[in-house]
Amino acid sequence: MKITRRAYRWHTPVPAAYFVVSQPYLQEDWALYPKFGHHIGVDYGGHGRTGIPIIACAAGVIVYRDTEDSPWGKTLGNHIALYVPSVDRSFLYCHLEEHPRAFTYVRQGVRLGTMGNTGASVGGAIHLHLEGFYGRFAIAMRSFTSFDDIISKTFDADSFLRAMI
Ligand SMILES: [Zn+2]
Repeated sequence: MKITRRAYRWHTPVPAAYFVVSQPYLQEDWALYPKFGHHIGVDYGGHGRTGIPIIACAAGVIVYRDTEDSPWGKTLGNHIALYVPSVDRSFLYCHLEEHPRAFTYVRQGVRLGTMGNTGASVGGAIHLHLEGFYGRFAIAMRSFTSFDDIISKTFDADSFLRAMI
């Protein structure tokens, strides 16, 4: 019997019309990012719109969430980390408009929140900042010690997602 390739495809982290990179992973900019000189995640711009949903790109577990008034929230805004066991990677969605809901397991395609510009949202424009981490995310992983540390912990979420969608 022929083994058929699974038809399963991941979901875009934002509606397809907004799945356009406005700032790529590891873009170098020492003025914007004085500590390590590079953009650690990938940005998807909201083009001035409000109310754009952000979406679980795959089935997984919300392993972390915090609000804009927390220590990490000053940078990340309202944020939420989705761990996807099938690939042992995590996706940190940042600058959400509203506080993340307290859910644990999510199905692919579930709305996790709304795109916003909370926290230190560079440029102040509504966008999703999405960081990819190897393994199950814990906030201590976000305390980078060097550029090499960033490279060892994170990956280009956009390239990864485009291969899965
Ligand atoms: Zn960003």
